[in-house]
Amino acid sequence: MRTAMMAGRIGSAELSDLVARGATLDFGFPVSSLTRLAALAPQATSVGKARLNAGFSFQAGTEGGPQVHLVVTGAVPLVCQRCLGLLELPVSIDVVLTIIRNDLEAGVLADPFDTVLLADGELEPEQVVEDEVLAALPLAPKHAEGSPCGSSAGREEELKSGELHRPMAGLADLLGRSTRQGDK
Ligand SMILES: [Zn+2]
Repeated sequence: MRTAMMAGRIGSAELSDLVARGATLDFGFPVSSLTRLAALAPQATSVGKARLNAGFSFQAGTEGGPQVHLVVTGAVPLVCQRCLGLLELPVSIDVVLTIIRNDLEAGVLADPFDTVLLADGELEPEQVVEDEVLAALPLAPKHAEGSPCGSSAGREEELKSGELHRPMAGLADLLGRSTRQGDK
């Protein structure tokens, strides 16, 4: 069964019920509400319409503990590490997480990394989604080869002027780009 609901906390009693019913909850999060993710965008305005959709399917886990099959889709605005411009990185996460109440429970699991730790017995879908997306992001996100990326122009200019390793020059460049993008 599928239930749409607002973001919030899922209490332990409700959680048990969701697992027993094998229920699926669908959430939609504007990236602007996910503060740690929103902070990665090149500027506040680029966060604007970005959204993540998340489906939480609850199930009784093979190791006894409850599990949630999490599917996240959407895109997050990031800074391209080559051209420092806006990069809308598509998100596609499909993972099964074992729900644990404390770190002790993680110790008995075969794979303690695929877990979601409850906060005071409650599940916070927004936090879970943000944690999983952050963990899945590449260390140095870049525009794909062949896509519009200001890299070649910017890099050559820097190499010519010999300012490749001057952080302040890079910052000025970033600010300049942001202004120009805002004009579009
Ligand atoms: Zn780029």
